[in-house]
Amino acid sequence: MENKITGLHHVTALASDAQKNLDFYAGILGLRMVKKTINFDAPDVYHLYYGNETGEPGTIMTFFPYQGLHRGRKGKGQLTTTAFSIPINSLDYWLQRLKKFGIEHTQPQERFDKEIFIYFEDNDGLGVELVANEIDTRAGFSYGQIPLEHAVKGFFGVVLSEEGYERTAGLLTEKMDHQLIVEKGNLFRFSPTGKAGDFVDIVCEPDTMRGLGGSGTVHHLAFATPNDQVQLEVREKLLSGGFQVTPVLDRQYFHSIYFREPGGVLFEVATNDIGFAIDESPTHLGEALKLPQWEEVNRAEIERGLVEINLEVDKFRD
Ligand code: ZN
Repeated sequence: MENKITGLHHVTALASDAQKNLDFYAGILGLRMVKKTINFDAPDVYHLYYGNETGEPGTIMTFFPYQGLHRGRKGKGQLTTTAFSIPINSLDYWLQRLKKFGIEHTQPQERFDKEIFIYFEDNDGLGVELVANEIDTRAGFSYGQIPLEHAVKGFFGVVLSEEGYERTAGLLTEKMDHQLIVEKGNLFRFSPTGKAGDFVDIVCEPDTMRGLGGSGTVHHLAFATPNDQVQLEVREKLLSGGFQVTPVLDRQYFHSIYFREPGGVLFEVATNDIGFAIDESPTHLGEALKLPQWEEVNRAEIERGLVEINLEVDKFRD
């Protein structure tokens, strides 16, 4: 039987400064800003989407940059690290690049076979990894400031910090088509496909403090499902497991349902079949401020309320 959940879709986090967020993810990491829109629930706040060239599911990192938002605390019950995939031979390139831009990072460490990672944080303290590996066959994306052969390919996976792994593992394996792929110590890796980009790592950290929301923390983790029909089947399956799932919500570029997993992380299941080219041409993604149709009448006021942001690619050349 085909999987109803096909992998990761996006990660959405909170930030405190839109320009610094753009500089970090599009400038330094070289992701493409594939959509510049607003928080549909708070129109004076951007919703910025970064990804590969088209913003495919499994590459999309999104932010609500509330200007001046207080810092959150990373901890248990949160997605604490988002890992991006780079080619196996690109680690030296990235170590030099991070040094050039003054970003502190850990020394390279090996986690599983032929999987070497470094950890660092964005301007708000959000946990990011670059994982050098040879299993990821996807192409990267570059604006030109990073050689294409070293470019980020999308997510490698995500790390959830949990009290224990069992209940979340039960949800992933029984209701969301994941399998336990490998485990080591307090680390348990799940995936519906076994492919780079789809890994959900659960780290059991019972002695860690619980996380608190705020800038530098992840708001939710979205999994991918093919279309509306399959999404409804997933929803039924979750409801039958006793999860409280929202109705389907229209997020313009995908349709979404949300529920909280047993460890406390907000999960979403989002559809794959709409995408970011629905309201602007693929060659101009992210250039204009896009509003949902019901907010167009307020465009002038919304634009006045948002800070101006620009990507100056030349500032981020090696
Ligand atoms: Zn989302």
